[in-house]
Amino acid sequence: MPDTIRINARMIVAYQEGEHRLLEDGCVVVEGNEIIHVGPDWDGAADIVIDAGDRVVTPGLINTHSHLAGSPLDKSFIEDVGKRQWSMSGLVEMLPARGAAMDAEAAEACVDYSMAELLRTGTTTVMEIGGIGDYVAEAADKAGLRAYIANGYRSGRWLTRDGKRVEYEWDEEAGDEGFDAAVKFIERIDGSANGRIKGFLSPAQIDTCTEALLVKSRQASDAMRVPLALHVSQSVFEFDAMTQRHGMTPVEWLDSIGFLSEWNILGHVIIIAGSSWAQYSGDDLTMLAESGASVAHCVWVFARRGIAMESFPGYLRRGVNMTLGTDTNPQSMIEALRWTSVIGKIIDRNTETVTGLDVFNAATLNAARMLHRDDLGRISPGAKADMLFWDVGAMFMAPLRDPIRNLVYNATPEDLKEVMIDGNWVVRDGAVLNVDERAVSQNLQFAGERMWAEMGDGDWAKRGVDELSPQLLKPFAG
Ligand SMILES: [Zn+2]
Repeated sequence: MPDTIRINARMIVAYQEGEHRLLEDGCVVVEGNEIIHVGPDWDGAADIVIDAGDRVVTPGLINTHSHLAGSPLDKSFIEDVGKRQWSMSGLVEMLPARGAAMDAEAAEACVDYSMAELLRTGTTTVMEIGGIGDYVAEAADKAGLRAYIANGYRSGRWLTRDGKRVEYEWDEEAGDEGFDAAVKFIERIDGSANGRIKGFLSPAQIDTCTEALLVKSRQASDAMRVPLALHVSQSVFEFDAMTQRHGMTPVEWLDSIGFLSEWNILGHVIIIAGSSWAQYSGDDLTMLAESGASVAHCVWVFARRGIAMESFPGYLRRGVNMTLGTDTNPQSMIEALRWTSVIGKIIDRNTETVTGLDVFNAATLNAARMLHRDDLGRISPGAKADMLFWDVGAMFMAPLRDPIRNLVYNATPEDLKEVMIDGNWVVRDGAVLNVDERAVSQNLQFAGERMWAEMGDGDWAKRGVDELSPQLLKPFAG
């Protein structure tokens, strides 16, 4: 029999009657990898009693969109650079340049670093879209993270040859082979690490996949009961490509081919009918709401380019199941919560249009609904023991009255002291237990230095790193 652990805490964000509620001076009881009780008291016997009178306990956060094998190397490179030709998107020039300059060890260094970064910033379940799924599965197993992993695939790619136009190059066979490999990957890893590691399907982007590839992906998602991710409405050039090909918005086209389902986790969905960026009439949100498809909203990757969803609270009001992801760096769900709420208020010009609880629900209950998991994103009997422990006495948590407001608007990773996933401690005293934080940070530095030196081949104009992304500071003369 596993140990029964009783944790007494100052505040617990506990699940009751379909919502998160505030339990003060209560306890949560864990047995094995499961929560067996939460309430003001418990009359059962515990093997271990932990007095966490100085902690706020919340459910762990579910990060529904990430690219762990590359995002950390966006840092110090991709910020502050955006071209009007691509309506500020970094997809056409910056990402290909980065991708071509990264070696295989750099991708692995990114994954190793991501494990520590995610655990330190509130993610307990991550959905990762990439191409080195086996490596990610191993790293997540070792770090103790809960991970849904997809090896992405597509029938083509976009490129520019002149810095002015986007073109597409097609290889449908590669898409089909990628699909077969992705299905085999899920069969191989699904349910490993005591069920912590699971698979999902991710045809890469709506504009790089054929209709046939998307339709068979939907069929496989239904048959395997796994989430189905797709980048949709993520850039103006993609939106324009889809309307030119089909005379429909990206969402309308997905609806017309029968792609939309309750297993969908659609990345971004920012440039839609009605958006000021698209200048195209229509009603994509009703279609999304009626289909039950979910959106992975990654606020920061757009906000830093001057682009915002119009608007997160508006999508919620229209009944779309909204979830949160980190996509780029920093891979922090604390930041995702904060920016989602604040930018929602700015776009709606209304303080009360969205609350800290709305975004906290998106990162917990809404994401769990998309995953078809009633055992994640909540502290309740029968749920997996995935919990965050925030220090009541830490500087940025004081004064504490409403824990959700403190987390969403004030907390820093320093305030997150312990993380439990699947009943195991993976962060204690603010430090990740199963990853050497210094070593993975140093390896990421080395990976960055190699990548910056190699940059050029992936760029249509063969520009080096300092041309693509000039340093902000001139070198000191002397
Ligand atoms: Zn993405």
